Amino acid sequence: MGSMWKKRVCVLSPEQEAGYTVSCAERILRYNGYFLLAILGVQSYNILYTLAYTGWRLHSRASRVYMTLYVALFLVSVIGLVLRRYLKQHLPERARCTVRLQVAYGMLLMIWGACVTVYDQRVSDSISVYLMIALTVAMLVYFTPVQAVAAYGGLLIALYFLLPVLRGVPGDNYGNQVNLAVMTLMAVFISVYRYISGRRHYLDEQIIMEQNRCLSDAAVRDSLTRLWNRRFLDEQMEGLYRRCADAGVPLTVMMMDIDHFKIYNDTYGHPQGDECLRRMAWRLEQEVDEETEYLIRYGGEEFLYIGVGVDAKRALEKGARFNQVIRELIIGPSEQDRRGITISIGIYTRLPAEAPEWSAYIEEADKALYRAKNSGRDQWVVG
Ligand code: GH3
Ligand code: MG
Ligand code: MG
Repeated sequence: MGSMWKKRVCVLSPEQEAGYTVSCAERILRYNGYFLLAILGVQSYNILYTLAYTGWRLHSRASRVYMTLYVALFLVSVIGLVLRRYLKQHLPERARCTVRLQVAYGMLLMIWGACVTVYDQRVSDSISVYLMIALTVAMLVYFTPVQAVAAYGGLLIALYFLLPVLRGVPGDNYGNQVNLAVMTLMAVFISVYRYISGRRHYLDEQIIMEQNRCLSDAAVRDSLTRLWNRRFLDEQMEGLYRRCADAGVPLTVMMMDIDHFKIYNDTYGHPQGDECLRRMAWRLEQEVDEETEYLIRYGGEEFLYIGVGVDAKRALEKGARFNQVIRELIIGPSEQDRRGITISIGIYTRLPAEAPEWSAYIEEADKALYRAKNSGRDQWVVG
């Protein structure tokens, strides 16, 4: 299929198609219950009216035929309501099944309308029951274009032949045939329009959601290193502190600072300094667990590590590991021109019950870092 055509009819990838099917199923289950209830209401009225009209005897053949049709639709609609209850509890895995059942119900409803209309021809030449139902179905049911053409086209042909069969008064059927043909075209048009616009709307929604995700991610990421930024710290630190307090587990904070970074910048230039920050962040990220550990770019060349549930022993191992991996990191263009750096680390580990508030962790880690700098750099110190 050409890409222009694909774009026009809004062809989705298999994953998008699955997502769209789920969103259709959700809408069907949310709103079609009212539709089924309305049909049940109308059929209840029809059944009671027919019973009352015939004095509860259903003595004529016509009353029995109509009664059979009303009861059949009543029962199918009750089954629909029961299935709706079941399917509601089994989404998303029964999404396809939900859409198929809705299509099947729509087709049954149209066939039912066609039967009533054919039978009505004994006493009138009206085709309004079928027209009304067929248009309502076009607006509610998620037909594919092929299903729409098959259902509406098939019934159009069937009605062309069947309408005159029970005709009481012989007469001209031309008006009805034109109305049927026009209505069929309109119904197919509505179905195809819904098919395409529903998919397009779904894709637009996906794009907006993806953009929102990117925006909210960008707001808490540092643009140079892609680590978390200060905003993330401001928004999340209290929560992480609470998480540890509630679970009764220790919280570890490390303040890390590159040694003699000013000299590094002066020697290799700022662009290489930036590359150094990027490479360092990339290497440290490989050492942390996404669920429980966070790396934050705290300042220019200062990084904060937060470890939820990381105790003193693990904190020391981690600190030593950070020192080691950064010492071994090659930042320059080759093994001969490594342009390596070292970092100093201040570590502070406590149970939240032992620290007055989360900011104490940062202050104490900072003090420990100061001691690491004064003790010769490229090392960790515990506060
Ligand atoms: P110390 O070992 O005591 O930490 O020495 P230092 O030179 O690292 O300390 P200082 O705080 O004096 O210098 C930090 C330097 O980091 C100064 C600044 O130019 C550099 N810096 C901060 N942010 C960035 C950045 O985003 N990119 C680059 N290239 N350099 C940065
Ligand atoms: Mg420094
Ligand atoms: Mg500094």
